[in-house]
Amino acid sequence: MTVIAIDGPAASGKSSVARGLARHLGFSFLNTGAMYRAVTWHILRIGVDPESPTAVARGVAEADIRTGFEHAHSFIEINGLRPYDQLQEESVNRSVSAVSTVPEVRTRLLQEFRRLAAATPCVAEGRDIGSVVFPETPYKFYLDASPAVRQQRRNAQGQRDEVAVRDRIDSSRRTAPLTIAADATVIDTTELDLDEVIDAILTRLLARGLSTASERA
Ligand code: C5P
Repeated sequence: MTVIAIDGPAASGKSSVARGLARHLGFSFLNTGAMYRAVTWHILRIGVDPESPTAVARGVAEADIRTGFEHAHSFIEINGLRPYDQLQEESVNRSVSAVSTVPEVRTRLLQEFRRLAAATPCVAEGRDIGSVVFPETPYKFYLDASPAVRQQRRNAQGQRDEVAVRDRIDSSRRTAPLTIAADATVIDTTELDLDEVIDAILTRLLARGLSTASERA
């Protein structure tokens, strides 16, 4: 199993970096944030209170969840529906951290993440990838940026998203909080553009023996 773990707080650039890295390496992109968002979207859609852990746990236990990779990108289907644009809606931004604190949600998705990565080399982004989901991977990165820059990035995407509020809930929850794994390389992206971050990570990976897709071609 080969997994590159990319963790970090909200709007630190994880998704764009992970997608770009996956392309360079010829790996698949496992977007775990999108999966937590999809579960949140489902919970809201079926009228469950996202602040009630027992109701959320029941909602997830009763959901038919299917995940996989398509065109080297992870997808999640819940009761036959595949949310996509809905994942960035303000209602999801507002409730996703609460839903993600529920241990039953995490256990359910963790099984999916491990099953997906067992079959396919991937770049996985999230909050607990290096610390809990794939603690054995030697390739761990933690992206950070100043809170002001992260909030600006979200606003520039036209999204209403209280980044600091999500960070506080994500860092203080009991199960698998946002944390820097002891053996992770920390990269501050405040002053870097996307290509510079990807380059910084690729350089380290190539030095450790991984190769790019074009080198293997
Ligand atoms: O990465 P993204 O901002 O899309 O993640 C949305 C939310 O999903 C996070 O704020 C966090 O609450 C949750 N999440 C998580 N663990 C992960 C990935 C995301 O708890 N591995």
